[in-house]
Amino acid sequence: MAGRTRGGDFPRCPACGTPVHKELVGLRAALNVTADLTPLTPAEQAAVREPNRLIWCLRTNSLGHRRLTWMEPWHPPDCTRGDHVTEHRCPPAEPTTLF
Ligand SMILES: [Zn+2]
Ligand SMILES: [Zn+2]
Repeated sequence: MAGRTRGGDFPRCPACGTPVHKELVGLRAALNVTADLTPLTPAEQAAVREPNRLIWCLRTNSLGHRRLTWMEPWHPPDCTRGDHVTEHRCPPAEPTTLF
C-alpha cells in the first residue's frame, strides 16, 4: 500500500489506472460493476450501448456515498439526480504498444 487514499478518492482500474466506481449491485443477482466516472450525454449513451453494456445512474447521497442506480427498464430522460455512466472498459492501448 503506497500512501493512504484520501477520502473521496476512487479505486482505480488495475489495468489502465483510470479512476472507477466499483460496486456490488444486488438486484435479482449480485452484479459486480466497475463503472466509469465520466458522465455520458444521451448521444454518448446511445453510442456505447450494447446488449451486455449497461448504463447506470450514479448518484451521490447525502452522506457522500456513491451508489449505482439501475436504469432499466425506464429512466427519466431529464434525470438530473445522477451522472449517467457506463461500465468501464480500458481504453485502447497506445498504438506504439501494438505489434
Ligand atoms: Zn439518472
Ligand atoms: Zn481499465
